[in-house]
Amino acid sequence: MIHNNKRIAVIGGGISGLTASYYLMNGVGVGTSNANKYQITLYEKNDRFGGNIKTTKLDKQHCVVEQGPRSIRAAGTGINTLDLVNRLGLENELIFASKKSNGKFLLLDGEIQELPSPNKLLKSIQFVIGQGIVSSFLAEPFKKVPKDVVDKPDFDESIHSFFKRRLGSRVADIFVEPMCLGIHGGDYKKLSIRACFPSVANREISNNSLLGLNLFGEKSDKTISTIPQQLPFLLPEKQSIKEILDKDLDKTGVFSFENGLNTLISSLVENLRANGVKLNHSTTIQEIRTNDNGKGYKIIDKDGNVEEFDQIISTIPFTSLYPMFNKSDKALEALLRSIPYTSISVLNLVYKNNASVADKIKDKGFGYLVPSKEKVPVLGVCFDSNTFPEFIDSDKDSIITVMIGGNQGIKDRNAEWINVDAKDKDDLLNIAKKHLKKYLDIKDEPDWTNVEIYQNGIPHYEVGHQQRIRSIQSYVEKNYGDKLVLGGNALDGVSINDSIFKSKSLVYNLLENNK
Ligand SMILES: Cc1cc2nc3c(=O)[nH]c(=O)nc-3n(C[C@H](O)[C@H](O)[C@H](O)COP(=O)(O)OP(=O)(O)OC[C@H]3O[C@@H](n4cnc5c(N)ncnc54)[C@H](O)[C@@H]3O)c2cc1C
Repeated sequence: MIHNNKRIAVIGGGISGLTASYYLMNGVGVGTSNANKYQITLYEKNDRFGGNIKTTKLDKQHCVVEQGPRSIRAAGTGINTLDLVNRLGLENELIFASKKSNGKFLLLDGEIQELPSPNKLLKSIQFVIGQGIVSSFLAEPFKKVPKDVVDKPDFDESIHSFFKRRLGSRVADIFVEPMCLGIHGGDYKKLSIRACFPSVANREISNNSLLGLNLFGEKSDKTISTIPQQLPFLLPEKQSIKEILDKDLDKTGVFSFENGLNTLISSLVENLRANGVKLNHSTTIQEIRTNDNGKGYKIIDKDGNVEEFDQIISTIPFTSLYPMFNKSDKALEALLRSIPYTSISVLNLVYKNNASVADKIKDKGFGYLVPSKEKVPVLGVCFDSNTFPEFIDSDKDSIITVMIGGNQGIKDRNAEWINVDAKDKDDLLNIAKKHLKKYLDIKDEPDWTNVEIYQNGIPHYEVGHQQRIRSIQSYVEKNYGDKLVLGGNALDGVSINDSIFKSKSLVYNLLENNK
């Protein structure tokens, strides 16, 4: 029987908190369906919802600027996000990236170079020869998989160690490191292969090779367990979103909305309001304490207001959560603190009606990433107006986004690394402009700029992450049962898709437990 009127507090009004509340009110599509019998209060410390997701529209002109995340992938758990888009009735606002953004570029040897795609075979061969990495690819299928990798369930290693083992240092340094900078702002010498790229790690185990040539012995049916993969039945059938997927005419597999990612946030907020969820913004939660009767929890905000709940779902970063247990549970405080975070800065530069700038970026795809070996104070540059031309008025407008910062481990290889927590926004903007001038010959002043610093913005899944998460989860289960549920992007995936799917999974478990 459903416990009617159960009071649930959701802490955090980013995509994780909003979708956790959405699934609680609207059900997850399988299992317990009469889910809308809860009194939900969502707490958000800012005066706006969305967390990292922050879209701005420039005044008086059509220009959509993403100040945080910029796009969502349709693959993997993206199918679930597209299903949510359908459920919210947003399919007509959804846009897929343009084929102009298909090219992938790197800043290599001081020049912006296109990474060859498999269908440009000749160019690929020239590139691979030019970079001196032919032998790495030829040798990969002959590399044996170490016994520990297959046999020890808790085995883990860094992304650097994994790729160095399979494809050599040069491939790791040129191709893999920038990918880690782009996705995690991360240090590939610390990030865990199993937590960050479980499907790649699985490929080695099941195929004995990353390139798909199984030269050594039997294929293995062992796989690395990750929490999203444990609830695959929550992923909708691809068929159910076929109409949406068919819109991806250029097959980029990357999407947003005509008015940017905030469309998803506004729609969720509207849905929650209509469903009677209490949405408390500008409310910082400071402490979680057990009720006097020991059955539920008290939530105390910054102004000392206290509310009582039967269950709590936290979706805030662990850096914000651990201080709440400082008085009541030192062990949990220490466990949550064991997950490190990384800061990153996102700088938008908009050039209106400037054909010269537009011309300089028009053939450079979605943008480029920068390996540390280039010794440049920038992690990557995105050309958002190439990716989503719907965001601009005319092909003379350009939206350029520069990423600076990332994990401090990067400093060991790149003395130009910038600690964004200690930098002035104006200094960061100057660094970005200098970079664009040097590598793209953009000398003009932008018409509009914005600098965001995401302090501790991305969890850094370091070697042993899955083990740490298991310890946290088993501690919470043992000591709090399902009265305290942890969600958000600290656990098993840092993308928007992962965050949404995590919320769906935890709500499924909660609904089943509350049956
Ligand atoms: C710069 C950047 C670029 C990214 N780019 C992409 C991308 O292009 N595609 C992609 O898929 N992913 C991207 N990501 C990752 C993605 O943005 C996040 O994983 C996702 O948005 C996390 O959502 P969340 O709700 O878990 O956390 P958050 O968005 O961090 O939301 C947490 C919320 O909790 C609130 N909060 C914190 N403490 C308290 C408190 N004590 N009381 C009340 N409220 C509190 C915060 O104000 C915030 O609104 C990017 C991340 C960053 C930082």
